[in-house]
Amino acid sequence: MSVLFSELLVPGWADGEMIGLGDVTGEVALPCHSADPEIFFAEDLPGVAAAKALCAGCPMVSACLQGALSRSEPCGVWGGELFVDGRVVAAKRTVGRPRRIVESEPVREVALAS
Ligand code: SF4
Repeated sequence: MSVLFSELLVPGWADGEMIGLGDVTGEVALPCHSADPEIFFAEDLPGVAAAKALCAGCPMVSACLQGALSRSEPCGVWGGELFVDGRVVAAKRTVGRPRRIVESEPVREVALAS
């Protein structure tokens, strides 16, 4: 079975409902249909920000986000939010080793000169 990218945006699709995009949007052009699809799955922060900016001007943003949440999208920007492993996250983890947490030195008592 082939699935159109647009059909993934429709809440209920995962339940077997096949609803055409035109049924939902009334043939309104969506930003993700004219942009490079790769931008919605960008690995870098500027790419993610660009995808979120496109979503911000989309008339389907609420329905798209609702659908992505209902499907627990594994990755990508949907409805203006970044999904990782089915959850909305603020930002992707960067590549490489996590920063080392340096324990701070214990606070020392300092005697005040009188
Ligand atoms: S909110 Fe973003 S991903 Fe969803 S339909 Fe609109 S432009 Fe596409």
